[in-house]
Amino acid sequence: MSAAKRRRRKPLPLPPPADRQRFRRRLLNWYRRHGRDLPWRRTRDPYHILVSEVMLQQTQVDRVLPKYEEWLTEYPTFESLAAATPRQALRTWYPLGYNVRPKRLHAIAREVVTRYDERLPSDADRLKAFKGLGDYTVGAVRCFAFGARAPIVDTNISRLLFRMFVARGTAKDHETKRHLWALSGVLLPRRHAFDFNQALMDFGAMVCVPRTPRCGGCPMQPDCKFFASSERQQLGAARKRRTARR
Ligand code: SF4
Repeated sequence: MSAAKRRRRKPLPLPPPADRQRFRRRLLNWYRRHGRDLPWRRTRDPYHILVSEVMLQQTQVDRVLPKYEEWLTEYPTFESLAAATPRQALRTWYPLGYNVRPKRLHAIAREVVTRYDERLPSDADRLKAFKGLGDYTVGAVRCFAFGARAPIVDTNISRLLFRMFVARGTAKDHETKRHLWALSGVLLPRRHAFDFNQALMDFGAMVCVPRTPRCGGCPMQPDCKFFASSERQQLGAARKRRTARR
């Protein structure tokens, strides 16, 4: 799409308050029954949360679980990680892959120890200044470790919000990405931001999955734009088949 056309496109609408409320209620109800019990959900320790979030970048939960425990046994604090060498950190990280991550984690640990008295800062600007911490990780650390009402958008959340509230074009263009962040912000409840953000991730990972979303029995179905448009397409295709047979 040309830059001129992109400029002319109407802004995507945000859902009205009643729709936001319904989405929150359905999501949190689902999470209370089906949410995963993961060790990093039982802690508010900023270092532990940071380790889990960096490990979860590009890596599935079941591969992260054993490594998370092993890593925290080896390096339980920023201080212990900072005291190790980058090579030792890399060895402990094996075989998670994307080896730039332990290097960055190690560099963050050293900076936290030397500049911040072993305490991870909680404000977005300082967190973003660390190499390797993007918008998602910063939002996740602020929300899960410091209780901030910070929105997050990862791959699972992006897919879920796109299907629910947009369902046309692609989730990958710049404008739509910005819209998905705005959606994540307006949907976030005043209370229970921790559970809500964890629920978004679980729902995208367990129900609104990439290839074949589990729409049958999905509590979001009545308001889901993707579901409504697939239904319309199926009805249209069935009508065409009937006409062709006559
Ligand atoms: Fe995802 Fe289907 Fe549920 Fe819509 S109805 S949120 S597409 S699983």
